[in-house]
Amino acid sequence: MLTFHPVDGKSPERKKIAAIPGDGIGKEVIPQAITVIRASGAPVQLTEFDWGADRYLRDQTTVPPDGFTMLARDFDAILVGAFGDPRVKTNIHAKEILLGMRFKMDLYANVRPVRLLDAVLCPLKGVEPKDVDFVVLRENTEGVYTDAGGVFKQGTPDEIATQEDINTCKGVERIIRYAFEYCKTHSKLDGSPRASVLMCDKSNAMTHAGGLWQRVFKEVSAEYSGITSQHMYVDALCMQMVRDPRQFDVIVTNNMFGDIITDLAAGLQGGLGMAASGNIHPGRTSMFEPVHGSAPPIAGKNVANPIGAILTAAMMLRHLEFAREADKIEAAVLQAVRQKKTTEDIGGKLGTREAGQWVADAVSR
Ligand code: ATP
Repeated sequence: MLTFHPVDGKSPERKKIAAIPGDGIGKEVIPQAITVIRASGAPVQLTEFDWGADRYLRDQTTVPPDGFTMLARDFDAILVGAFGDPRVKTNIHAKEILLGMRFKMDLYANVRPVRLLDAVLCPLKGVEPKDVDFVVLRENTEGVYTDAGGVFKQGTPDEIATQEDINTCKGVERIIRYAFEYCKTHSKLDGSPRASVLMCDKSNAMTHAGGLWQRVFKEVSAEYSGITSQHMYVDALCMQMVRDPRQFDVIVTNNMFGDIITDLAAGLQGGLGMAASGNIHPGRTSMFEPVHGSAPPIAGKNVANPIGAILTAAMMLRHLEFAREADKIEAAVLQAVRQKKTTEDIGGKLGTREAGQWVADAVSR
């Protein structure tokens, strides 16, 4: 366990952050995010944990006993890299650490902002930064990711596999309510208020779960008269996101659709290396991670884009009410993108470490 002691800030309260870089490029981008946090002067104390594939292969530990209880008790927030390593074929450690954190700490709202920082990063013609500024709120504790279901007669021609899509009234209601509250309390980058919540499902085919989402959405939206409520089937939404991303504001959806549409949305931002996310339960210790995974093909080569992790760090600081430091980091990232002081995936010539250091230096200036 390593402990970092960043410089003291002016705020009287020093927040405690657990950093878990994990595997693959997580181990490269999280140190850059930490360098940037330290440069921002945010009054935080970071403690690093070695949970991940190396630890699992060494002593079979995925999560140490009482690990989640310790995180919730001793830390204000958690900064995570990514999990997944070709040496662990079952991916058991990734499941137990990442899904464990989301499920056992009940981090039900996965908040994924989608923002285009520079027109050159968007593969769509004629799309400007003002045209891509929406957020996807993904239900994070239910759906098909609970691993409910099973196999029967495995390995025979009669094999049956089921994967249950779990949707509880409580789970659906709280993420939909979170979306309306988010809409009420957040503004767009240009300062204008957020004004609409769009619920995305596939209720024309998945009638049982879709029926619950539809009913709860109608009930909750009736309580928020100033906010426009809209609906789209997930297939239509994918097409519309590519045809005209301007129309989106706050999107709320289930676990699987949220996973898929945010990879598509990351494409609008310049790729997976640009996207940030938070896994939140209001009032509890929440976890922040870049949207990308461990990306084994590019791991260890100093080519991974650290911006997703750095913007994730800014999101975490904002959540901890260090808005000034978060603003400084976001402004420095914007400068880096505009001046092409970035990794190659978004048009620059720098390595992971150099790109992270450039942002840290810009934050300190
Ligand atoms: P997971 O299922 O664990 O979320 P994934 O299947 O979405 O992972 P990633 O591991 O995120 O896949 O990466 C897929 C590919 O996207 C990588 O091989 C790499 O080419 C690109 N990529 C992802 N993250 C980055 C990054 N930070 N910088 C540059 N390229 C990236």
